[in-house]
Order: sequence, then structure tokens, then C-alpha cells
Amino acid sequence: MARYVFITGGVVSSLGKGLASAALGALLQARGFSVRLRKLDPYLNVDPGTMSPFEHGEVFVTDDGAETDLDLGHYERFTGVAARNTDSVSSGRIYSTVLEKERRGDYLGKTIQVIPHVTNQIKEFLTIGDNEVDFQLCEIGGTVGDIEGLPFFEAIRQFAQERPRGECIFMHLTLLPWIAASGELKTKPTQHSVKELRSIGIAPDVLVCRSERAIPEKEREKLALFCNVRLDSVIAAYDLKSIYEAPLAYHREGLDQAVLDAFGISPAPRPNLSRWEDVADRVFNPEGEVRVAIVGKYTQLEDAYKSIAEALTHGGMANRVKVRIEWVDAELFEREDPGPWLEGFHAILVPGGFGERGTEGKIRAAQFARTRKIPYLGICLGMQMAVVEAARNLAGMDKAGSQEFDHEAGAARFEPVIFHLKEWIKDNQKIARDVLDNKGGTMRLGAYAATLAEGSKVAEIYGKHDIEERHRHRYEVDIKYRDALESHGLRFSGMSPDGRLPEIVEVPDHPWFIGVQFHPELKSKPFDPHPLFKDFVRAAKEVSRLV
Ligand code: GLN
Repeated sequence: MARYVFITGGVVSSLGKGLASAALGALLQARGFSVRLRKLDPYLNVDPGTMSPFEHGEVFVTDDGAETDLDLGHYERFTGVAARNTDSVSSGRIYSTVLEKERRGDYLGKTIQVIPHVTNQIKEFLTIGDNEVDFQLCEIGGTVGDIEGLPFFEAIRQFAQERPRGECIFMHLTLLPWIAASGELKTKPTQHSVKELRSIGIAPDVLVCRSERAIPEKEREKLALFCNVRLDSVIAAYDLKSIYEAPLAYHREGLDQAVLDAFGISPAPRPNLSRWEDVADRVFNPEGEVRVAIVGKYTQLEDAYKSIAEALTHGGMANRVKVRIEWVDAELFEREDPGPWLEGFHAILVPGGFGERGTEGKIRAAQFARTRKIPYLGICLGMQMAVVEAARNLAGMDKAGSQEFDHEAGAARFEPVIFHLKEWIKDNQKIARDVLDNKGGTMRLGAYAATLAEGSKVAEIYGKHDIEERHRHRYEVDIKYRDALESHGLRFSGMSPDGRLPEIVEVPDHPWFIGVQFHPELKSKPFDPHPLFKDFVRAAKEVSRLV
């Protein structure tokens, strides 16, 4: 039997609903259950693929090529379950499906309405793969009371009503603000939030309350009474030093027990939390510290590089060091010499990105790392810029650059070492794309295989020759420059299986200089750090010991 936990939020946004959902998923797994986590987002974009990273943070890409919300990254990092295209949906996607059906005449001339047509479409989404796992955890984005969220709330209400009794429960996350002047935690906003929820027909079974202070028994009783929730289902969520403490912290507060009780699962299987105890031990007891500079474009919003920051943390955990990340705006190096800024870092990472702004700075950061023999990891655009740097400064191609920054100009400014790929092979089928102005869906997206060269550093790091990693880009390193670059010291050490697309480059004459066309950060987990991040941090740790 499929069981559903619907997770909603109230009072304010950014309370950590995604993290609470992910931690609950991990705790149910620790008790031997299988889980899948899903996100339902009320915004009208069809997917976050076209949203600015400043707007929405990172776009998380799944193996099957969906561009999704960064919460899916949390889900994957906490449960190890690879997210799928069908794990996230937005109002935009629901409406566009409904409108497509309407145009096709599927509704047989009926008047199309939010109830039942939009809500039915949402319910259809909820049932995808419902018997594959013991628990489906569905998080509704936004806050109860938002106008655009209403169809989702209505759909989950109907859904729970239509399923057999005991298959669905509701968990609501709110905030208890601390009023310093009166020295009190306030329950009223939570009461209002639950009232709002109940007015649309949803009664929460579990109430999770974010609070910066310990919640006194008296306040818990009040919450239970006024919100119509059992006392032991009022769960405190305190601020944590590390997100990786969340499963243990929520377990201590009784979240998983409350959820199992709400389903009437008794006796509940005992949890095995050793995985999370080990993770917490590594996070809280590092034996040193390494400093890594991330030279990027969206550095004001750390969420824009969420998975990279997490993957570095995982690499640190594997090496028992704390990774201190410092964000450096790449544009700075277009005005100033990177030396004084980057001196003293144990490693440099240039992440992915779109557009020309800051790229000359990234090239200079790559040059600094290469010539000063500081460990360098270039991801996607960070790899492309490392190739441009090598083309210019090793192979003497002064005009080397990327077609990405040229396509609007009349005469080409750059020699297109990085070119716009219009055709490629996926699952033995040719994919052709020629539209640059249609921003959605023109990229090489999702998991693609790569073959690693015998004797290369990456083959040693991965411990194998065949890998699969997630992609999200339009441009590629042009294979026709391979000989010129290899003869000057940049090795093409990973290629697509057909040998046409460079996937990885490395500088053999360097302690650690690797550029990857894909996004390894998306597959890293705290209990299973990605090999590239693990080894990158190991290299940084070695540098830290020398200075
Ligand atoms: N803008 C580059 C491309 O489209 C790199 C993309 C990225 O870094 N994700 O190829």
C-alpha cells in the first residue's frame, strides 16, 4: 500500500521545509522503509530551467534530464534516491498540460476549470509510481494562503479524501517567533496558519515548529489544543549548525515516531541511525581546515551553487577536514591581478555559468591555478574557460574563446575552441537542435556516459573507465583542437563513448588540474562523497600541509 505524507508550510517561507522533508525521508529509510520525495511548486514557470540563479538558486538536473528545483538536490543528498523527471511539477507544467489537452479536444467540449480539471491533473501527477515505494513524501512549495498554491492544496485535500483511510497524512511546518521584549515564544501565527489550512479542509496530523528557543511544555500544550494536533505530534525544529545533523535532530524530537503513529504503524521498526551518526561525527570533528575559493558569477547568492558547496563539504567529510569556502566574484579579476586575492587558498574551483560576464576573470583564475600549481576544478563553464586559457597561453591561440559569447556579434571575435553543438547522440538516437533563442530545452541535459583514458588521473580517481554524469550545457570543446592542445600539455582524458565530445581535460604536469564538462556535484552525498570532490579536497589538504 502506498502511503503519502504531504508537507506544507505556514507563517513565513524559507523555514526549511525541503530539509525537513529530506530528513524525514532519511529517517523512514533508517527504519527500513523505501521512500520517494517529490516537490509541487505553485509558480507558473514550466520548470526552473529558465529562471535566473539569483531568482531561484541552482537548477538541479536529474539523470533523465529534467531541470528541477534545488530541493530535489536535498532529497537526493539525504536519501540517495536518484530524482526523476516525475519528482517535480509546477503550476506552469500542470496548466500547460491541461491546455494542451484542451486544444486536442480531450475534454470533449467541456468548460475547463481549476476544479476539477487542474486538480485532476495534479492528482494524476501524485499517483505516478505510487506502488513503487512504501512512502511518497510530497512537499508543496510556498506558504499556505498564497493564491497560486490553492489548486495544489485543494488537490491534496481531494486526494486524501479519495484514498483508503490511513493512506495520507499532513505535516505542517511553521515558525514560533521569539519576542525578545516580552521574552516569549509566540504560538499565534501558527494557530492562524493551521486555521487557514483547516478552512480549506486540511487538518495537520503533525506540526513541526521552527524555533530559536526551546519550546516550553506549556506552549506545546497550547499548540496541540488550538491546532487540534496530538501533543506528541508537536515537533520542535531548532536551528542547526549543520544541515547534516537534521535527521538525528528530528529523530530526537520524535518526528519519525509521530509520522509512523499517525499512520498507525505499530510497533514501528527500530531505526538504524549509524549512517547519520557517522556523518555528524565527520561534520563536527574535523581534524583540520582547507580554504577553497569559488570564482563565479552568482556569488552573492550561495544557493546558486548549492550542490557544489554541499559536494565540497562531503569531500571534506571524507578527508576529515572542514572546507571553508570563500566566494570570489570572477569580474574582479577582469580589473585586478588574481594573485593577491587567490594567494593562500588551498584550491580553486570555477563553477558553471551562462553568458560572457566574468569569463575573462575565470580564465585568469584558471591561469593562476595552472601556473602556480594550485589544485583546480573547473565545472562546465569552468572547464570550458580552462580550455580557452590553455589554448591562449599554452598553444598560442590568442583569439581562442567560446561561440557562446560571439553569436550575437557580426564578425566573430573568437576562434571557437568552444563551439555550439547542434547535433548529438542520446540513447542511440540523433538529437538535433538549432535554435539559440528558444531558451528552454535546447541543452544537452541529463546523464551521459564518458570513457576515461587509460593511465589518466581521472581514471585513477574514479577507479574505473566508464562513468555517467549529469550535463546541462549548449556548448562543447571542439575536438578539432585536441591535437594542438594535447601537444601543449592539456590532456583530453574523458570522452563521450563515440569519441566526439570531450568530457574531461586534465593537466598531467600539475598536482591536480581537472576540468569536467558535466556536473559531478549533483551526484555527491554526505555518506557517499563524489570521487572528484573527495580527491579534490584531498589535494587541497595536501597543499594546506605544505604552507
Ligand atoms: N554556458 C555554457 C554552455 O552552455 C556552460 C553551461 C554550464 O556551465 N552549465 O555550454
